[in-house]
Amino acid sequence: MPILLTLLIISACQQEQKSEKLNSADKKISVITTIAPLYSFTKSVTGNYAEVENLLPSGAEPHEYSLSPEDAIRISKARVVVINGVGLEMWLDKMLAEGKGTEKQIVVDSSSGVDLISKDPHIWLSPKNAVIQVNNIRDALIKADPANAEHYAENAGAYIKRLELLDSEISGVTGSLKRKEFVSLHSAFLYLARDYGLREAAVVQETPESEPSPQHMADVINVIKKNKIRVIFSVPGVPHKIVETLAKDLNLKVYNLDTLETGDVNPDWYEKRMRANLETLRTALNQ
Ligand SMILES: [Zn+2]
Repeated sequence: MPILLTLLIISACQQEQKSEKLNSADKKISVITTIAPLYSFTKSVTGNYAEVENLLPSGAEPHEYSLSPEDAIRISKARVVVINGVGLEMWLDKMLAEGKGTEKQIVVDSSSGVDLISKDPHIWLSPKNAVIQVNNIRDALIKADPANAEHYAENAGAYIKRLELLDSEISGVTGSLKRKEFVSLHSAFLYLARDYGLREAAVVQETPESEPSPQHMADVINVIKKNKIRVIFSVPGVPHKIVETLAKDLNLKVYNLDTLETGDVNPDWYEKRMRANLETLRTALNQ
């Protein structure tokens, strides 16, 4: 090998070693979140001070997700794991219980301290709960990475101010809606209803993944007729057969209300989708 080339290779290797040392000196902690809203919350708190990734790919439905071996590796490598809790991530419980994560791993149950409604895991759909979730995430990040505590506290404070603005916008709109009762395909909006004076009068799906029984459908139809309900909330994506049939038979208008279970991995995404939902509520429940 010519001497010059040998020297170049040696020099390149030395450079590499140097940059590796630099990286380990200011290495960012790695954080993994399970669903898109938790990514928005967590990334808004960390800013660029931590590496944050979301586990579920866009379009994946969290109620019946199954963990792949690659997922398990990603989780085990994370310093902090942020979960929704309330039984949403049952596919993760086994892994976390078995202690497959490293000893130093911190698992944040973001629902800690939320006033829960039995059987409804969709806590993030009320910004009042989101504030509690962000506080839990902030505390865990500070514990995992005290060197950046000030940044996390400051970012969380700024983000909570934005969530409080969103909260007051929702209160403003829902307070003057003509109708407060609604029917939805998927039972996801109980927290939103409770915190903003609305009422989920009936739900088409008894559980997220099963078809409703004829008796249940008869009850839903009764509720719609009795309460003179005019709109039904479906979820974005493929049109739902039962919703379409109900809408046709009972002359209901169908609107999509996003459960925010899946979507873009982006710090601003949560607020944007919540405001889009608010516009839908304003249109749908004012007629
Ligand atoms: Zn759901």
